[in-house]
Amino acid sequence: MTTTAEKPIAFFDMKAQQALIRADIDRRIAAVLDSGRFVVGPEVVELEEKLAAYAGAAHAIGVSSGTDALQIAMMAEGIGPGDAVFLPAFTYTATAEVPLVLGATPIFVDVEESTFNIDLADLRRRVALVKAEGRLRPRAVVGVDLYGRAADWPGILQLCAQEGMFALDDAAQAFGGALGNKRLGAWAHATACSFYPTKTLGCYGDGGAILTDDAERADLYRSLRQHGEGKSRYEVLRTGMNGRLDTIQAAVLLAKLPLLEDELAARDRVATQYAARLGSAVKTPATLPDGVHAWGIYSILLESEAQRTRVQAAMQARGVPSAIYYPRPLHHQPAYAAQHQGCLADGPPPLPVSEDLCQRILCLPMHPYLDAGQVDRVADAVLAGL
Ligand SMILES: *Cc1c(COP(=O)(O)O)cnc(C)c1O
Repeated sequence: MTTTAEKPIAFFDMKAQQALIRADIDRRIAAVLDSGRFVVGPEVVELEEKLAAYAGAAHAIGVSSGTDALQIAMMAEGIGPGDAVFLPAFTYTATAEVPLVLGATPIFVDVEESTFNIDLADLRRRVALVKAEGRLRPRAVVGVDLYGRAADWPGILQLCAQEGMFALDDAAQAFGGALGNKRLGAWAHATACSFYPTKTLGCYGDGGAILTDDAERADLYRSLRQHGEGKSRYEVLRTGMNGRLDTIQAAVLLAKLPLLEDELAARDRVATQYAARLGSAVKTPATLPDGVHAWGIYSILLESEAQRTRVQAAMQARGVPSAIYYPRPLHHQPAYAAQHQGCLADGPPPLPVSEDLCQRILCLPMHPYLDAGQVDRVADAVLAGL
């Protein structure tokens, strides 16, 4: 039971981190106020250099959100009507929203129960179905590094090379993550990052970035985030958008970036402790042997929806927060269900793993400032509800 002496447990925690760097953040924001360069000021340029260096990508382009990062990357490829964009059915809505906004057709792909990421065999099958039907052109795969775990990038890239498709990494939950000796940002043709406050690197509002090794793509991204401008401000070469990163948000991110490595290590400690406490009672997420799991979100898999309801109630009774990412697969969302049914003339194959995960997944508090006692209290609450 919660006593007043116990430290409250936050699901995400931005206050503990802020206390460490508040003076630096105040100083950096004051510098922006003094300079008055609020839009693509020097802090944005400095941040772009640091993000690229950190991720091991040649170019980083600061943009207004993770969603806009996805959109600008797809606009640069000219993705639109008649194009099929393959993406997991078990992800955040933004991944699917962007191809629809551009007039393209999202094709939902099932995920693997063991990694929560796109299932390559199912991806191949759906690409083959779209090709056989000949109505849509397979154009892009959006691999999502769900919960901070890298998708199977070697496999996705191989298929994309074979089929002439664009490989876009939705790394919104995984900034700082790595696969093999390469960080996310250096794998796909382009990588979309989100700096929404609760992500592994978060600002104090909306922000994002696109990482790429390709200089031509980088130039296009810079143009598209600024209304499609050319060399001069008032030459418009293409239809773009207002998708720039705020200077004040860049200043916040510059203060936070130096903490990231220690924070990733702390997240890994929390994940290790959860696995030790809960691994024999519930299904805890598989670790990533060859890489860095960024642990943006920590999820356990329960036996049934009924068991999940019991565990959530036990956690709530002990003042421990929990969340469900995601309660519905995207193909069951009212906004997408009809287009999903119509994306193939004979109807799309089922998506059983995505549907099942939505019934049984449960996400536990995860942030770098959870101490061992707090993790124990979360684990005790979960065990009490089984
Ligand atoms: C957060 C998130 C996004 C969107 O990022 P915003 O910065 O909120 O626009 C996209 N995809 C995934 C998987 C996310 O978790």
